[in-house]
Amino acid sequence: MNAEVPERVQGIYQEVLRRNPGEGEFHQAVREVLESLAVVLDRHSEFSEMKTVERICEPERQIIFRVPWMDDRGEVQINRGFRVEFNSALGPYKGGLRFHPSVNLGIVKFLGFEQIFKNALTGMPIGGGKGGSDFDPKGRSDAEVMRFCQSFMTELYRHLGEYTDVPAGDIGVGAREIGYLFGQYKRITNRYESGVLTGKGLGWGGALVRTEATGYGAAFFAEAMMKVRGESFDGRRVVVSGSGNVAVYGIEKVHQLGGTVVACSDSSGYVVDEKGIDLDVLKQVKEVERGRIADYADRVASAQFVDGGSVWDVPCEVAIPSATQNELDGDAAAVLARNGCRYVVEGANMPATPSAVKVFRESGVAFAPGKAANAGGVATSALEMQQNASRDRWTFEHSEARLAEIMRDIHARCHETAEEYGSPGDLVLGANVAGFLQVAEAVHAHGLI
Ligand code: NAP
Repeated sequence: MNAEVPERVQGIYQEVLRRNPGEGEFHQAVREVLESLAVVLDRHSEFSEMKTVERICEPERQIIFRVPWMDDRGEVQINRGFRVEFNSALGPYKGGLRFHPSVNLGIVKFLGFEQIFKNALTGMPIGGGKGGSDFDPKGRSDAEVMRFCQSFMTELYRHLGEYTDVPAGDIGVGAREIGYLFGQYKRITNRYESGVLTGKGLGWGGALVRTEATGYGAAFFAEAMMKVRGESFDGRRVVVSGSGNVAVYGIEKVHQLGGTVVACSDSSGYVVDEKGIDLDVLKQVKEVERGRIADYADRVASAQFVDGGSVWDVPCEVAIPSATQNELDGDAAAVLARNGCRYVVEGANMPATPSAVKVFRESGVAFAPGKAANAGGVATSALEMQQNASRDRWTFEHSEARLAEIMRDIHARCHETAEEYGSPGDLVLGANVAGFLQVAEAVHAHGLI
C-alpha cells in the first residue's frame, strides 16, 4: 500500500502497478492524476460503477515493432519502435514521436497517458497517444536519419490515418524527421494525406506558429498565472532548462513579454548570460549547427559555460523546465525556492519530480503542470489539422492569437476547477480534474468499449 495515495483510488493504483511492472515513469504519471481524482469519484458514482478511471489507465492499443536499417558504414542496426494509442474518446489519437536512447515502453506510456488529459484541456477534438524509438539521431548523418525514418514508417503507417492516429514531433523529432516520415507514408499509401502528421514544413502543409507553439504557449500560460496575482513578466529574471524546440521559443516569447532569460542548458551543462540569452546565437548553435550549449559561451562575451551542474542553481523568479522528465528534483526545488523563485511552469512533460512539486506546494511557489502549460504545441497541431482539412492557410498573427487565447482558456479552466473542487490555486488538481472530466464523460457516453 502507498500511504500518500488516497484510499478511494488505492485499489486502482495497485492494479496499475501489478499490470505494468518496471514502468516507473508511467506509475508516477498515473499516481499524480489519481491523487487528484478522489474528489471527483466522491461526486460521480457512475465513474466508479463503470470503472471509467480503470479503463482510462489501460491503453486501447500498444504497438511495439522492430526497426532495422543500415548505417553509412554498411552495418546493420536494429532499433525498437513504439506507438501507444491510449485513448480515442475525444478524437483520433494525437501525440508526438520521441527518438532518444532512453525511450522504452514505460516512458511512451507515461507520455501517452499525460497526453490524454492535455489534449482534452485544449478543447480540441483529439485523443491521446505517443510513440517513438530508442534510436539516437545525435551524430547520425542526414542519410542515416532518413533510412531510419523510412524503416520506422514502413511498419507504423498501417496504424496511422487522419481519422485514426496522427503523430507529431517530440525530443529528437523535428521538421527533418517529420519530412522523411511523411514522404515514406505518402509513398507506401499513395495518398497525399496532409492530416496524418503535424509539424510539417511550411511549404507542404505545415502551419505557421507550430514550431514556436509549445514554448510560446508555456510563456502565455505563465503570463496568465501572473496576471491573476496582479503581476507580469516585466523585468523578471527567468531560467529555462534545455535548448531545444520548447526552450528556444519559450525564451523568445519571455523576452517579448518583458522578462529576461539569464540561463539555459543541454545535457552537457548550462550557460549563464546576465545580459539575457542572445536568441540569434542560440538558434544558430542549436537549430542550424546542431551544436552544444558550450558553443554559445564561446561566441558571447557575457556568457559563462558551466560543465555539468544544475541550471537550477542560477537564481531566478520564474523557472521554465523545458528539457525532459524528472530533471528537477526535490533538492533543486529547494534551491529555487530559497533563491526567491515564485513561479515554476513546466515546458517539458513531467520535468518536476513528485518531491519537487511537494517543495513548491509547501513553499508557496506557484506551479503549473506540463499537461496544462505545454499544451500549446498539440493545440496548434490541431489547428494545423484544421487548416489541412479545409485546404486553408492562416497568417502568423491569426495563429498566434488563437494560441494565446487557447492558453488563457486552459489556465482559466484549471484555475476555476481547482476552486470548484476545494483547492484554490492548485493547478495540478485543476488540470487533472478538468481534463479527466471531459474524457470521462465521453468514455461513459460511448458505452463499454
Ligand atoms: P528537443 O528539441 O529534442 O530538445 C530537448 C532539449 O532538452 C535539448 O536541449 C536536450 O539537450 C535537453 N535534454 C534532453 N535530455 C536531457 C537531460 N537528461 N538533461 C538535460 N538536458 C536534456 O525536444 P523538445 O521538443 O524541446 O522537447 C522538450 C520537452 O518538451 C520534452 O519533455 C517533450 O516531451 C516536451 N514537449 C514538447 C513539445 C513540442 O512541441 N516539441 C510539446 C509538448 C511537450 P541535448 O541536446 O544535450 O540532449
